[in-house]
Amino acid sequence: MFVGHYAAALAAKAASPQTPLWTLALGCQLVDVGWGAFIIAGIERASVDATLPGSTLVLEHMPWTHSLPMVLAWSLGAAVLVKLLLRLPMWASAIVGLTVFSHWPLDWLVHRPDLELWIGGDKVGLGLWNYPVPEQAIEIGLLAITGVFWGASRHARGQSAWPAALFMTFLIALQLTAMLTPMQANPVGMGSSVLAVYLIAAVAAALVDRAPARA
Ligand SMILES: [Zn+2]
Repeated sequence: MFVGHYAAALAAKAASPQTPLWTLALGCQLVDVGWGAFIIAGIERASVDATLPGSTLVLEHMPWTHSLPMVLAWSLGAAVLVKLLLRLPMWASAIVGLTVFSHWPLDWLVHRPDLELWIGGDKVGLGLWNYPVPEQAIEIGLLAITGVFWGASRHARGQSAWPAALFMTFLIALQLTAMLTPMQANPVGMGSSVLAVYLIAAVAAALVDRAPARA
């Protein structure tokens, strides 16, 4: 799952408009941001198998970012951090925590069994990556549904829906670029490329939030 994760950020933004979009865009991918850093540092391991259908990633070892208890810990940590550092209200902070947690069930849908139920425990994953066409359709579909929902919620508050349309277009362009770009096999290239993409998406989200409420 790649851009499909941003569906959680869009749904969260619709539910909690006062939460900054960049915290949600970063939050929905937070455990992958950790993964990118840990892959570079050699703490977690992954390789590339070009013969695989869909995602060519083989996620061999990622207990600290993608096991169920650690994702809960990242979620709680993120909620506490935005509450303390950004002084967000309780509900807005909880929404950030929930958005971070959404990463795990969405990854569970598409990953081959590589998500640990506890650290060092059984690995789960429905494996939709093995069926690339429906998998991509689900990612884009989730994005489209939540994007329309967010646009409609802006409209209902008397705000322009165009920032929602702009961010959606950006995310779909990101997905197309990712589909056409082979995953780098060396850990530094693999980790730094995903970190760069998530950073660009967070900056784009911050810019979208600064757009005037009315066009
Ligand atoms: Zn992930």
